[in-house]
Amino acid sequence: MVVGTPFLTVEQIQNKNRELADRISADYRGKNLLAVGILKGAFIFFSDLVRLIRVPLMIDFIIASSYLKAETSGEIKLHYSVREEIADRDILLIEDIVDTGITLNYLRERILNEQPRSLRICTFLDKKERREVDVPIDYVGFEIPNKFVVGYGLDYDNKYRNLPYISVFKKTA
Ligand code: 5GP
Repeated sequence: MVVGTPFLTVEQIQNKNRELADRISADYRGKNLLAVGILKGAFIFFSDLVRLIRVPLMIDFIIASSYLKAETSGEIKLHYSVREEIADRDILLIEDIVDTGITLNYLRERILNEQPRSLRICTFLDKKERREVDVPIDYVGFEIPNKFVVGYGLDYDNKYRNLPYISVFKKTA
């Protein structure tokens, strides 16, 4: 496993988060914002981002996983549903990375069933070329190529989440 060189540095991450938070703050002025983080991967991005957003908000989390080690299973395990009231709230779903889009599409439909006033999606990373399901994404941090990345909340086998930067994961023999 090689995690030596950052693919995205701490500084690039911080700058991008400020940019995203500025846009979100402008878009959600006067709204009833509920920021919903998708665990576990988004926990660091979520906590950095909400601290930079300058409008009132409430938070909640969903635990979802569709990955087994570095391979997607396509099967989503949804451990918790949102406990805050969704109806009539402006929901911002916050994800670490969108790959095939299967996870987000599933969560989006579940949330839309509960009739929020609005639903937008923010992802830190987007592997657009891997998309299988078309999901509308409103805020994207970085578009990245089809490489498996770890760090900044993202894992391999629940490890490396604590790296402060994003690194490309390479399996060593
Ligand atoms: P999707 O349903 O869009 O295929 O997959 C989304 C989920 O797959 C993400 O929330 C994340 O858990 C996982 N995932 C996709 N690509 C990567 C990657 O490059 N690195 C890591 N650590 N997880 C990934």
